[in-house]
Amino acid sequence: MATVTGYPGSFQKMDLEHKAIERIKMASDMSLHHYGLPLVCTYSGGKDSDVILELFKRSGVQFEVHNSHTTVDAPQTVYHIRKKFREIELCGTKAEIQMPTYKGVPCSMWTLIPQKGMPPSRLMRYCCVVLKETGCANRFIATGVRWDESNARAERGAYEVIGKTKADMITATDEIMLMNDNSIKRTMTENCMRKNKMVVNPIIDWRHRDIWDFIQSEHIDYNPLYDCGYKRVGCIGCPMAAKSRWKEFSDFPTYQRAYIRAFDKMLEGLKARWKDKPPKWKSGYDVFLWWMGDKNVEGQMDLFEDGFVSEN
Ligand code: SF4
Repeated sequence: MATVTGYPGSFQKMDLEHKAIERIKMASDMSLHHYGLPLVCTYSGGKDSDVILELFKRSGVQFEVHNSHTTVDAPQTVYHIRKKFREIELCGTKAEIQMPTYKGVPCSMWTLIPQKGMPPSRLMRYCCVVLKETGCANRFIATGVRWDESNARAERGAYEVIGKTKADMITATDEIMLMNDNSIKRTMTENCMRKNKMVVNPIIDWRHRDIWDFIQSEHIDYNPLYDCGYKRVGCIGCPMAAKSRWKEFSDFPTYQRAYIRAFDKMLEGLKARWKDKPPKWKSGYDVFLWWMGDKNVEGQMDLFEDGFVSEN
């Protein structure tokens, strides 16, 4: 089993669990009131998803479960999701796996890369926008976002309104939500809520070890990849995953070949489009090595300096 570093005590566990369930209950009430639809538990197949799913079951609220099929998850993750969704449906809860589309046509990471004309990167996470973030429009959703996962998440709140731009984003703490009606309305107007996606992050204050303690003590079935040395599970080769990508491609070489084929197709498109300034990469394999951070690839390119991507 993945890292378990000692149990912080039953009182703390009860407190975290109680607080998370209260957040789910409050979000559920708001979802039914403002959207007329149940709260959606988003599920990725990772450990945090399994914890929030269990908390939803314990909360007693009516809910739905949603997964965005990324097309780059490991087979173990896909099987784990399908297994969990079968169990949920047998209990009478709606569980939907949404297949991705781009410009109205079914797509995958491998068709998206040639269409976008660049590999996904930390700066250009177009795959997230297309493969992960299109579902549940105008719904109230719950995610497994936690503060201790990254610094970028430190500014997130237990409750959020996701607008079209970062400036439109509103976050709120439990305290604000528990204050009087006027305060809530000042923070999240009904109009704003109806037009945007509302988010509750029930386990935002859980630490890594709280997650594993809960999974272990409550005997929750989790993704078997964690027992194969994975600290996080998600898209194979995700540019956000840094060093673990080499292990991922060593364990899943089919995905490496699929990326290289997609980069080959991307290069064909770029050569046809940029006849007067063809890309310096000679093959999809060159692109793959560049993408993986190999500094010794012949024909190194900078997506910005070489004019393939504009910063605007
Ligand atoms: S590869 Fe990374 S950036 Fe792309 S969809 Fe997956 S998680 Fe998002």
